[in-house]
Amino acid sequence: MMQAQLAQAPGASVAPLLAVRDVSVVFGGIVALNGVSFDMHRGRILGLIGPNGAGKTTLFNCLSRLYQPSTGDILMEGESILSRPAHKIAEIGIGRTFQNVALFPNLSVLDNVRIGAHSRTTSDMISDSLKLNKVRRTEAAINERVHEILGYLHLESVAHTVVAGLPFGTQKRVELARALAAQPKILLLDEPAGGLNHEEVHVLGDLIRRIRDDRDVTVLLVEHHMGLVMSIADHVVALNFGKKLAEGTPAQVQADPDVIKAYLGSKDQ
Ligand code: ATP
Repeated sequence: MMQAQLAQAPGASVAPLLAVRDVSVVFGGIVALNGVSFDMHRGRILGLIGPNGAGKTTLFNCLSRLYQPSTGDILMEGESILSRPAHKIAEIGIGRTFQNVALFPNLSVLDNVRIGAHSRTTSDMISDSLKLNKVRRTEAAINERVHEILGYLHLESVAHTVVAGLPFGTQKRVELARALAAQPKILLLDEPAGGLNHEEVHVLGDLIRRIRDDRDVTVLLVEHHMGLVMSIADHVVALNFGKKLAEGTPAQVQADPDVIKAYLGSKDQ
């Protein structure tokens, strides 16, 4: 009710898909995040940047529910996600990848991606066993989805290959496929360019944009690779010492004197 009124108010902006509201995280005496707020809007790519220790990973871990904020809230489509454990975020449409790839190394590409697809289904085995036809239909739909995604990410030729034997760049694509198999509304990418060469980063940038455009996925990109963030993000949030330093278009944030100062004073340049 409240939101509908706000949305109709003159000059009011569209309700965000995800809202970070005044989030703070304290570890012992260390304030890792200090009252950070920003919105993520549908269909956008948001780049989260900041020098080492700025709080990017801490915020990412709050969004993916590995950390619990000390204060503040995170709302997905207007509802708090803070009572939801990490293994239940796929159900509400939040997918993620990991900095160092977190696949099942001894399983095939196909099986890893299939596991991703299952993480979106909320059914339980006992009730499903009483509805065999429904299970068969669900499995058929999952198989179709998995193969569509393998084709989309050019992974069909390695579908039956064990993940451990694949080059790192390909493993990263498998992880993306696994996250997409859960049909996320938001994809959280934790330093996807890490460990990739120049050409691979370029291809990755095109791929992330294509995923946003073709699959209606909103993206949060935590990334040290400035070239990637500035070339594909629609909106950038810069953190430093746990606080939001600046936000705006890539050009605005790049030109912000506080952001320039923060990077000049760090080892990240
Ligand atoms: P980097 O770019 O180096 O990964 P970051 O921007 O991701 O840095 P965080 O890892 O979120 O920064 O760290 C923010 C602050 O919180 C740092 O001072 C860090 O030492 C501290 N911190 C992060 N995680 C923990 C933890 N589990 N326990 C204690 N302190 C932590």
